[in-house]
Amino acid sequence: MIKLVRGFKDILPADTALWQHVEALARELLEDFGFYELRIPLLEQTELFSRSIGAGTDIVEKEMYTFTDRGGASLTLRPEATASVVRAYVQHRLYAKDPVWKLYTIGPMFRRERPQKGRYRQFYQINAEVFGVDDPRTDAELILLLMRFMGRLELPDITLQINSLGCPECRPRFKNALESFLTSHSGQLCSDCLRRQDQNPLRLFDCKVPSCKETMQDAPSVLDHLCETCRAHFGSVKESLEGFQVPYQINHGLVRGLDYYTRTTFEVLAESLGAQDAVAGGGRYDGLVKALGGPEQPGVGFAIGLDRLIELLAGRAQVFEKRPHVFIAAIGKRAQSVGFQWLQDLRLQRVRAEIDFENRSLKSQMRRADKLEASYVLIVGDRELDDGIAVLRNMTTKEQEKVPLENIISFVVNRIDTTAVGSR
Ligand code: ATP
Ligand code: MG
Repeated sequence: MIKLVRGFKDILPADTALWQHVEALARELLEDFGFYELRIPLLEQTELFSRSIGAGTDIVEKEMYTFTDRGGASLTLRPEATASVVRAYVQHRLYAKDPVWKLYTIGPMFRRERPQKGRYRQFYQINAEVFGVDDPRTDAELILLLMRFMGRLELPDITLQINSLGCPECRPRFKNALESFLTSHSGQLCSDCLRRQDQNPLRLFDCKVPSCKETMQDAPSVLDHLCETCRAHFGSVKESLEGFQVPYQINHGLVRGLDYYTRTTFEVLAESLGAQDAVAGGGRYDGLVKALGGPEQPGVGFAIGLDRLIELLAGRAQVFEKRPHVFIAAIGKRAQSVGFQWLQDLRLQRVRAEIDFENRSLKSQMRRADKLEASYVLIVGDRELDDGIAVLRNMTTKEQEKVPLENIISFVVNRIDTTAVGSR
């Protein structure tokens, strides 16, 4: 037997209804907030990611699925979506029509990390990005959208952490303070951190090694080094969140795993997930559009990790599973051919109908209807046809009623609209 590649997974029919529900809710909310969908490829030129995510990051150093294609180009399966969305914004000159764009995309990402609970090599994200607005209310609005989404899903134990990473003006001052701290604590750092210490000291806040984590708790805070403009920007984000009663915690170590962030960063954590507790993360990236060859336009966005989100909702998968509304139990050749016609007519009316073609006994067809958990069974045999009726059995109440053959389709549709569990 040929099996799955390690770290990859199938999402089986028992779970896809839940995935669809979550995705549909996200689309609805994003579109209510004025976002348009963008579909981008899974494969990009490697340079897009190495330049945007940053050379000294875990993703670029260790996690990308990079290969040389037959024409000699270095290609990479996308490890995240923002770089591709920015590329599309720049390449198609979307900004020329209007610098302000709100875009979302849903799909798989690829990172060659160590597979474990909540960590896969192909995982799914919902991404939202806003271009062309530097107003802090946009940052707050994105966070609000994210929290509304979590709220609509009734997720328990969710916390929001926020931080500001400053801008090219105040970052150097912070880097200096950080560097002298790191020099005096180099004995407690892992080999990755020692290597990155000079090139990219902010990265050290994102290290998952326990001794590094502990050391970084005493590191200087970026928030003490913000310039006036960044301080005001962050103040305004907090004020907006408070205005909408969105509780938050400040985490000055929240630098995120990608290099392009400026000013606001945020993460949504779910305690019950254990070690991999980040469900969503995002932030502002005011320099990225320019760095990827576009005009000077700011950007801010987030990514929701669908796999971890679904994990939080696992107990609810069954609620969203769609059962047949009607099972047609047709006994005898003539009834089978009438039933086959009804089956198609019902489906045209968006009724989920099933039939068994094997012409088994009524008893075994009823067993099949039970197994499928159909809400109704429409029973028809040669005798019923002669009498000009069929029998509709409600599988919950066990009540049966005789239905005249003329208008049978609209009769059944009507019953389902008023009684069947779950909408159509
Ligand atoms: P983590 O700190 O858990 O490694 P991250 O900071 O690398 O997460 P981001 O790049 O911010 O993650 O991606 C946003 C979200 O995507 C995360 O909050 C998480 O829910 C999800 N995610 C990231 N990597 C994986 C993975 N390997 N498997 C499953 N979900 C993931
Ligand atoms: Mg990671």
